[in-house]
Amino acid sequence: MLATNYRGPYRIRASQKPDPVIEHPGDAIVRVTRACICGSDLHLYHGLVPDTRIGHTFGHEFVGIVEEVGSAVETLKPGDRVLVPFNLFCGSCFFCQRELYSNCHNTNPEATAVGGIYGYSHTTGGYDGGQAEYVRVPMADVGPYKIPEDIVDDDAVLLTDALPTGYQAAEMGDIKQGDTVVVFGAGPVGIFAAKSAWLFGAGRVIVVDHVEYRLDFVRRYARCEIINFREVGDVALHIKKMTDWLGADVCIDAVGCEASGSLAQTITGRWTMLQAGAATALFWAINSVRKAGNVSIVGVYGPTFNAVPIGNALNKGITMRMNQAAVKRHVPHLIEHIRQGHLNPKEIITHRVPLEEVSDAYHIFSSKYDNCIKTVLIPPRAGSARATATSVIH
Ligand SMILES: [Zn+2]
Ligand SMILES: [Zn+2]
Repeated sequence: MLATNYRGPYRIRASQKPDPVIEHPGDAIVRVTRACICGSDLHLYHGLVPDTRIGHTFGHEFVGIVEEVGSAVETLKPGDRVLVPFNLFCGSCFFCQRELYSNCHNTNPEATAVGGIYGYSHTTGGYDGGQAEYVRVPMADVGPYKIPEDIVDDDAVLLTDALPTGYQAAEMGDIKQGDTVVVFGAGPVGIFAAKSAWLFGAGRVIVVDHVEYRLDFVRRYARCEIINFREVGDVALHIKKMTDWLGADVCIDAVGCEASGSLAQTITGRWTMLQAGAATALFWAINSVRKAGNVSIVGVYGPTFNAVPIGNALNKGITMRMNQAAVKRHVPHLIEHIRQGHLNPKEIITHRVPLEEVSDAYHIFSSKYDNCIKTVLIPPRAGSARATATSVIH
């Protein structure tokens, strides 16, 4: 089959690999019809995630058709159209019983924090991802969600990570009616966090970024205010000015470890690697929230050290919540929001690219060329979806 093939930092291509096979009676094989590139895939692509092995197949946001199931699988059958949450989870451990699916204790024996994730290095279990024609889906009775007939694949694929992550960011912010919510980052997750903030009762939503076309998009899509941090000097000061000098009630970090905007963070985190990436967005979130406000973090940070102003957080009495999204917990109510017209996830898709052009697709997304917000890769055997793929090689 054709699949992505990581060759080292900034080098990825599509090449032939053996088809996946049923390795356990609980497995399913899914023929992928769409797989997104995620902002967090860029951390892999840039070589920032430890133990990202040459040859690894990336991709944790995919939908497809069940091709084959193991003998123990009871709820899926060949032909079922499924979305597969990015988390691999067992459904029965201490954490899964509490619906903390991203913290499953059984799917990532290498780590004590995060559970298994498709296509996200051996630090999350080493599972092959879905930027491929086929993918093996372990514990197929637990993770995959059958896509209802009235939900299109373009919406469903965004339910595997980006939308639930943005939504959970707003949920963890514990937004009260009328609150001012500031979202750092106008990528897909930040866009969905801003949109979701209204659903939790926000009175005002402000998004901070420096990529002008993304700020333009989020202003229209989420009907929010925007700040280009390159234009305002001190971001925290600017936000205080906009909020009667109190600060925002809730700040959401939807950026993570590759933030721009602070020379000190960039030097220590991205050039000399003295910390695990640059935590600029989190720094701003802590300094922009009001005293006793809430900071919610869904931007991806690696393990070990980041330079975070924890003293400010303590003295301000901030509540901080963070986690990787427990995707499957959110899918049913997000489907209802899509049906009601409150959320239109597919509108953020800007590129539909044949899987063969994965190298160019990563380059365009990473470089923020061509007004790229969300890229969907479409494999050769995607069926009718293949006709919607457009070459990006000119
Ligand atoms: Zn993702
Ligand atoms: Zn579990």
